[in-house]
Amino acid sequence: QSPLSALPDSGDRDVESTLRPRKLAEFVGQPKVREQLELVLESARRRGVAPDHLLLSGPPGLGKTSLAMIIAAELDSAIRVTSGPALERSGDLAAMLSNLVEGDVLFIDEIHRIARPAEEMLYLAMEDFRVDVVVGKGPGATSIPLEIAPFTLVGATTRTGALTGPLRDRFGFTGQMEFYEPAELEDVLRRSASILGVSLDAEAGAEIAGRSRGTPRIANRLLRRVRDYAEVRADGHVTRDIASAALAVYDVDELGLDRLDRAVLTALVRSFRGGPVGISTLAVAVGEEAATVEEVCEPYLVRAGMLARTPRGRVATEFAWRHLGAGPLQNPRG
Ligand code: ATP
Repeated sequence: QSPLSALPDSGDRDVESTLRPRKLAEFVGQPKVREQLELVLESARRRGVAPDHLLLSGPPGLGKTSLAMIIAAELDSAIRVTSGPALERSGDLAAMLSNLVEGDVLFIDEIHRIARPAEEMLYLAMEDFRVDVVVGKGPGATSIPLEIAPFTLVGATTRTGALTGPLRDRFGFTGQMEFYEPAELEDVLRRSASILGVSLDAEAGAEIAGRSRGTPRIANRLLRRVRDYAEVRADGHVTRDIASAALAVYDVDELGLDRLDRAVLTALVRSFRGGPVGISTLAVAVGEEAATVEEVCEPYLVRAGMLARTPRGRVATEFAWRHLGAGPLQNPRG
């Protein structure tokens, strides 16, 4: 019998939400952000007020959305979810804000991508729980102040640096999410395997964790692909060998680099002789958007010690040359 039969698997997105931790205690890793948040939330709870606005910053897939939902759950509040790109017209934001009930959590993902007029409306809302709605056009236009219920804004961003100063200043706390350690990812995988009913050896968990780029979302995705392989090509039980074989099929290498990461490194080493090269030139060379290369690939390549950011551009490290099988002797720069 398939270990998955207990759970309908109608697609990755549904499974993703099944795997989301619901309580701070279930949230693996990020000890620093967790401790800081616990203090902010507990103190607000004791004082009976809505906590300060909170900003969560870090690369994609580290659990910012999960944490926002947990914050709302810990506050016993409802959460309204939107995103920077969805708030192109300030009217959309005004509607959202005026529908808030006291104590609600408003979650804005990718808050650095919010349009300017909406951002300005947000300043007033965050500070004074008020919005000015402009009615009419031209000289006859009037601005009507509208009270909104005290709420807590939780913003998520992959690029704190892209936030304007005034917006950043209005958050009372910024949680900087870090890449997860392999042992923490093993915990995430153990938890996910048990929710999905996948039988996973400890060594197999370690193998997947080591290739997950420090990111729980990737760990969960690799787990699902490994499970597929185990079910189709074996008896469903995931051993280390099964995990390695499955990950090879999906082009995930021993360091967890996927095709795009390797394309970036290869272009850097082969086409640009190791750099320095600007991020947009590099992105064009691999046919990706600069933002994707900068926000998705680069943070992990930097952390893995394969790519360095210098004032003159991106540079491949010696480790990158070696990982691609290009010995240091082939490196014209040394
Ligand atoms: P994005 O910014 O792209 O929305 P994110 O950082 O908000 O990404 P989430 O959507 O919260 O990431 O997390 C992705 C998935 O990873 C979740 O569905 C959850 O299963 C898992 N996950 C993330 N963090 C943790 C954690 N600390 N413990 C257990 N599972 C986690």
